[in-house]
Amino acid sequence: MPSADIIIKNAKIISGDESNPHAEATAVRGNRIVYVGTNEGVESFKDKSTRIIDGHGHTLTAGFIDSHVHLLSGAIWMNSAQLQEVRTKEDLKKVLLRFANENKTNPWIVGRGIRYGIVSTRQELDEIIADRPIYIGAYDGHTAWVNTKALEMAGILNEEKDLGPNGIVLRDENGIAVGELREEDAMNAVFDLIPVPDSNRKRELLKLAIQEFNATGITSVHNMNGDMEELMAYAALEDAGEMNMRVYVPYHIKPETTEEMLSEAAEMAKVQMDYVRGGSAKFFMDGVWESYTAFNIDPYADDPDVKVEPIFSLEHFTRMASLCDKMGLQIAVHCCGDGAVRQVLDGYEVIQKMNGKRDSRHRVEHIEVCQPEDMPRFKELGVIASMQTSHAPFSLEEDLVWTERTGPQRWPISFAWRAIKNAGATLALGSDWTVAPFDPMINFHFALNRRKWSASDPDQRLTLEECILGYTRDAAYTEFMENQKGQVREGYLADLVLFSHDLFEVKPEDILTVKPVMTMMDGRIVHDGEA
Ligand SMILES: [Zn+2]
Repeated sequence: MPSADIIIKNAKIISGDESNPHAEATAVRGNRIVYVGTNEGVESFKDKSTRIIDGHGHTLTAGFIDSHVHLLSGAIWMNSAQLQEVRTKEDLKKVLLRFANENKTNPWIVGRGIRYGIVSTRQELDEIIADRPIYIGAYDGHTAWVNTKALEMAGILNEEKDLGPNGIVLRDENGIAVGELREEDAMNAVFDLIPVPDSNRKRELLKLAIQEFNATGITSVHNMNGDMEELMAYAALEDAGEMNMRVYVPYHIKPETTEEMLSEAAEMAKVQMDYVRGGSAKFFMDGVWESYTAFNIDPYADDPDVKVEPIFSLEHFTRMASLCDKMGLQIAVHCCGDGAVRQVLDGYEVIQKMNGKRDSRHRVEHIEVCQPEDMPRFKELGVIASMQTSHAPFSLEEDLVWTERTGPQRWPISFAWRAIKNAGATLALGSDWTVAPFDPMINFHFALNRRKWSASDPDQRLTLEECILGYTRDAAYTEFMENQKGQVREGYLADLVLFSHDLFEVKPEDILTVKPVMTMMDGRIVHDGEA
C-alpha cells in the first residue's frame, strides 16, 4: 500500500459524502485524499516519513468554498488603514500613524470605513500627517475627508474645478476647501490621484488576503467580478507557485457590453489551470434596498413613490444571457429585490426554452426578498440560490434601514434561506466580501442565531450541517466541481479544514469562538493555527 504524506486521526469528520458521512481519520498523498475511515484503518498508510496530526476529537471538513467574493478589489482595499473601529480623533491618529509607519513607501495615506462626526476639516488631518496626502472614506462610500496636501494636489484647495454634477467640495466663507468631499464626483477629484498598485504589488496584496482567507478555513472562492486582466492577476500568482486558493473568475457583463465583447468571456473560459479558471458570466439586475435601487414588486415601505427600473430589461437580459448560455458559460446575477429575482428567473426560463435544457446551473446572487411563488422555480429550472446569511439584519434592534425600506409585509419572505431550501433549491453560501467579512463563522452565526423581526415571521434559520454543506459540497456543485472537491472522500482533492472544537458540541450562540487550527489546500498546509 502506498504510504501517506499526512494522516489526520482522532477527528470527527463531517465528510459531505452520503455513502460515508462520518469518519475519524483521513490520509493524504500528494494533493489527493487516499483514505477516509477509522483510526485503525488509517494505520496501514503510515510510514516513517508520514506526518501525523491529532484531531483531538474536533471537527474536520472539506475546505470551505466562499461562493461570492470580490477578491482582487478586496485585496487592494486591504492596503488601506481600516477605520471601522475608530471612535475618536485619538483612535484615528493612532491608526493612521501606525499605517504610515508600516507603509513608509506608500506615497498616500488611505483609510476606509470611518463613521461620521469624527473629523470634518483638513486641519484636523494635517495635525496627524501634513507632508503626505491623506484620504479617508466614510463607511457608506458617500463622503471622504482629505488633508491640505491632498487638496493642493487635486487643485481644488483654493479654486473651483468642474468636477461633474454629482459632487460637492465643501468650502468656507473665503471659498477655501474645508476638507470634506461629498459624493462621487467630488471624492474622485482626489481619489483618482491615488496610484493603483502595479502588478507586483497586486500579487503581494493578493497573497496577504489569501493568507487571511486560509486562516478562516477557506480554500476556494467564486469571484464575482472580473475580466481577462483580473483573471491574469490570479494566474500570475499560480504561475509563480504562490497561489494558495482556488479562484473561479467570471466575465462581468454590463448594460453597455456588446455581443462582440463576449469573445473575452470565451477566452477566459479556456483558462482552466489547477487553481485558477474562467467559465462564467456575471450580471447585475438591480442595486440594494438601502439606497432605493433594489428592483421591487411592491412599493418601498418607507417611500412608496420611489420607482426602480431594472438594470437590464427582460429582453436585453435574455438576449445576452442566451448568448452566454450557448457558449456554455454559467451565469450569475446580482438580485436584491424580489422584482429582480423574478425577472432573472423569467429570463432563465426563456433561454431554457430557446436553447434547450442543459446542466447549466445558472445562479441568482443575494435574493434578499423572494416572492413565495418564485421559490419553487429554482428547483424547476435547476437554478442555484447563492445567499450570504450575514447580510440579513440579525435582529430588528440592530437594523435601522433595511427593515424600514422593506416593511413588515415583506419580512416573512426576506432572507428566506429556510423557505428557499425547503422549496428544493441548492443553497450555496458565501460572504460577498468586502461587503461583509469573509470569516465563514460569521455567516454560520447569522444562519444559526438570527432572530425573528416579528413574532409572526417564519423561522429562516439553517442547521449547522446545512451551513457546512452550503460552504462545501453544495458550493462545489455550484461550480461544477462536485466530483473533485467539497467532500472528504477518497480520490478527492486534499482541501481540508480542522477546527478548534467539535462544532456539534458548541452552543450555536458560541459559534464565533470556533477557529480553524489547520487548513490544507491541494495537500499543502496553508494555515497552521497552532504554529
Ligand atoms: Zn458581490
